[in-house]
Amino acid sequence: MSKRDFYEVLGVARDASDRDIKKAYKRLAMKYHPDRNPGDEAAEAAFKEVKEAYEILTDEQKRAAYDQFGHAGVDPNRGAGGFGGGGGADFGDIFGDVFGDIFGGRRGGRQQARGGSDLRYNLELSLEEAVKGCKKELKIPSLSSCDSCGGTGSKSKTGVSSCGTCHGTGQVQIRQGFFAVAQTCPTCGGRGKVIKDPCNKCHGQGRVETTKTLSVTIPAGVDNGDRIRLAGEGEAGEMGAPAGDLYVQVHIKEHPIFVRDGNNLYCEVPISFANAALGGEIEVPTLDGRVSLKVPSETQTGRMFRLRGKGVKSVRSHAVGDLICKVIVETPVNLTERQKELLREFEETCAVSAKRHKPKAEGFFDGVKKFFDDLTS
Ligand SMILES: [Zn+2]
Ligand SMILES: [Zn+2]
Repeated sequence: MSKRDFYEVLGVARDASDRDIKKAYKRLAMKYHPDRNPGDEAAEAAFKEVKEAYEILTDEQKRAAYDQFGHAGVDPNRGAGGFGGGGGADFGDIFGDVFGDIFGGRRGGRQQARGGSDLRYNLELSLEEAVKGCKKELKIPSLSSCDSCGGTGSKSKTGVSSCGTCHGTGQVQIRQGFFAVAQTCPTCGGRGKVIKDPCNKCHGQGRVETTKTLSVTIPAGVDNGDRIRLAGEGEAGEMGAPAGDLYVQVHIKEHPIFVRDGNNLYCEVPISFANAALGGEIEVPTLDGRVSLKVPSETQTGRMFRLRGKGVKSVRSHAVGDLICKVIVETPVNLTERQKELLREFEETCAVSAKRHKPKAEGFFDGVKKFFDDLTS
């Protein structure tokens, strides 16, 4: 399937600013959001397309790679890919290593205003929340774009000008013997711009420390270690540069009853000695409430019963796991005289019976006898 051009998807020009791209994305994302179009597959596909275009075009490096090489330049299958995905090849690093070493300067070319850092948020979920999905409000301490200056760092619109020392390139050339060595411009620190009247609120950084509240939808089936990437929700970049991403790292709290292993759930269910011997129905817990389980007569302790489809629905494949119940036969306590009497009577009947009533014990003592017989012979 050939992919549509990312600029076309967002309906923006090839030289569109980050701001314009964000605007277009917000508008389209609202329009196609699955919450607003339940069950509409075309809308869902459009939403994914828009999201991908936005993620590439707001990432400085990926956008440059896309502009130069098209879709091949940003093919996620070439990078780490998967959940939270890596990216295309990092061309800057390759050239930086080669030229940086020879000339002793910074990476070749103009240094851009720094993009915001990615942030990680550790989110604790109960097993029920992870299995069924939930909405969470995250409070994130963050650097966000200064609203006083619109992220430019300057009090007035005309206050930002190209640096006179480096003429906006961010680097100055110094002659050393045969070589012209490029160094970071000392006047503007490599940004290529100087601010004459820095904004009071952010002191010319274009960013301020804030706490933002994000509402995040956690998909059903997430497990320990899963990451959810929220593009553009990390730290704001310097002077209007693109924001980083926010990675929500899922941690699942221990559950009092269930232990999860992939899509399967395990639990131990106590069962009375009489129930285990006679067989019958017992109640077992599931995440959707109690269900009854038929236990055959002569059930031994530790026997496992599999309840198909009562496990966890995978967030990736939508396959549903099983619930595996291990029954534990319980020794009765706090016996009354009457109960003791009955049990003694029961024990006596076992002793005089011609049948074998204790498969384990009898097998065990047969083994012990054989062991000693072998020793003495
Ligand atoms: Zn400001
Ligand atoms: Zn400069």
